[in-house]
Amino acid sequence: MKAEIFSIGTELLMGELTDTNAAWIAGQLPPLGIRLQWVSIIGDDLAMLSDAFTRGLQRSDVIFTTGGLGPTQDDLTREAVAQALGETPTVQDEVVQGLERYFAGRGMTMPSHNIKQAHLIPSARFVRNRNGTAPGWWVEKEGRIIVCMPGPPGEMQPIWQEEVAPRLRELVDEEVTITRNIKTLGMSEAAIDEEISEYFGHENPYLGIYSKADGIHLRIIARARDEAAAREQIAPVEQAIVDRLGPYIWGYDDETPEQAAGQALAEGGLTLATLESCSGGFLANSITDMPGSSDYYKGGVVAATKEMLLANGVPAPTIDRHGTVSRETALAMAQAARASWGADYGIGITGVIGPEAVEEQPVGQVYVAIASLAGQRELEFRTPPRRIVIKRRVSNTALTELRKLIVSEGGG
Ligand code: AMP
Ligand code: MG
Repeated sequence: MKAEIFSIGTELLMGELTDTNAAWIAGQLPPLGIRLQWVSIIGDDLAMLSDAFTRGLQRSDVIFTTGGLGPTQDDLTREAVAQALGETPTVQDEVVQGLERYFAGRGMTMPSHNIKQAHLIPSARFVRNRNGTAPGWWVEKEGRIIVCMPGPPGEMQPIWQEEVAPRLRELVDEEVTITRNIKTLGMSEAAIDEEISEYFGHENPYLGIYSKADGIHLRIIARARDEAAAREQIAPVEQAIVDRLGPYIWGYDDETPEQAAGQALAEGGLTLATLESCSGGFLANSITDMPGSSDYYKGGVVAATKEMLLANGVPAPTIDRHGTVSRETALAMAQAARASWGADYGIGITGVIGPEAVEEQPVGQVYVAIASLAGQRELEFRTPPRRIVIKRRVSNTALTELRKLIVSEGGG
C-alpha cells in the first residue's frame, strides 16, 4: 500500500510552525506495512488543496492529512476533499448536537461557524476525536482512502492510535518493517563497527549505525510477513550486540538518558543530588522531565561562579590548586552534592561553555564526575563548541554514566 501525507496549514509554509505531524505519522507506517512515498506541505488554499488531493489520489492508495479541520474560514481540508471528489457536504444533525453538548459542558453556546465540523460527504465517515471539537474524516472512494485528522498533535496522535491504526491493520496485508534501536555511549563508532562488523552490510535484517547527542545508536531494521517474524529476525543480531557491547548499552528504542537513569535510581530505592556549572541547569531540567522524579531526585544547584561553588561545599584548596574547570573540581562538586544534600549519588559538572576559553581550556571542554558511597566515576571530553550542544552532551553523558555506575554497584 502506497501512502502520502499532507501537512496542511499556511503557518507551516511560513516557517512559523514546524511540521512534526508528518514525521510522527511516518514513524507509524513501517510496522503497518505501509510504504510512504510523498510528504507535502500545503497552505490553506482551496484550489491548491483540491489539486493536491486530485493528484494524490492518482498516485497513492492512501492519503493522510493533518490540519485544516478547525471551525474557521481558513480551515479548508473538508471542502477540498469534497471538491476533489465532486461531492457535496451536508450537515449531520447528530454531530451538531454533539458539538452543542461539548460547548454546553463548558458553559458556552456553540459558535455558529463550528457547524462546519458537522459536515460530511457521502464517501466519508467521521473519525472520533475525544480531545477536541474537530472529528476526523475517513474517506473511501474507488479503492482509495483519505484520512483527515486535526492538526494539534495532542488530538491527532490519540485519534491515530485509537481509530486509524486499528482500521489500517485490518486493511493492509503486506510485509511489515520493525525497528529495534539500541543506544550506547562510551565506545567510538569505529570501535563498535569493528566489534560487530559481520552484521553490517546485509539487507534484511539491516543494521545501521548513527551518532546522536546521547551516544551511538544501532538500529536493526527487519522486514517480514508479520511483526512476530520480523522480531525473530532481529533477535539474534540484538543478542550479539548485547553480548559484545553490553556495558556500553544504556537504553533501547525511545528511551532517554533521564529515563534510564531515573529507572535505575527508582528500582534501587536510591537518591540523587546535582551540582552543575556549565550545563546551566540542563541536567536538573532533564531529570525532572520524568514523572515521579521527586521520588529519587533531591534537587540541585547551578553554580556559575567560584563563590557559588564554595558556598555549596566545594573545598577552596581544590579550586585554588586545580581551577574551577578541572577533573578534581568536578569530583569535589559531585561529592559536595552527595554530602550536602544527603543523597546516595552526586553528580558534578564543570566545563567551558564559551564564548571564551576559561583557565586556558577551550570552549567545549567538560568534566563530569559521579560520586557514590563506595565509588566514583570521572570523565572528561570535548564537545563541539555550541552552547546547546555542550549542555545536552554533558547532561546526557552524566545520566548514562550514572546509570552505569548504579548497575555496576548492584543497584537499579
Ligand atoms: P489546524 O487543525 O490547521 O487548525 O491546526 C491547529 C494547530 O495544530 C496548529 O496551530 C498547530 O499548533 C498544530 N498543528 C497543525 N499542523 C501541524 C503539524 N503538521 N505539525 C505539528 N503541529 C501542527
Ligand atoms: Mg490551520
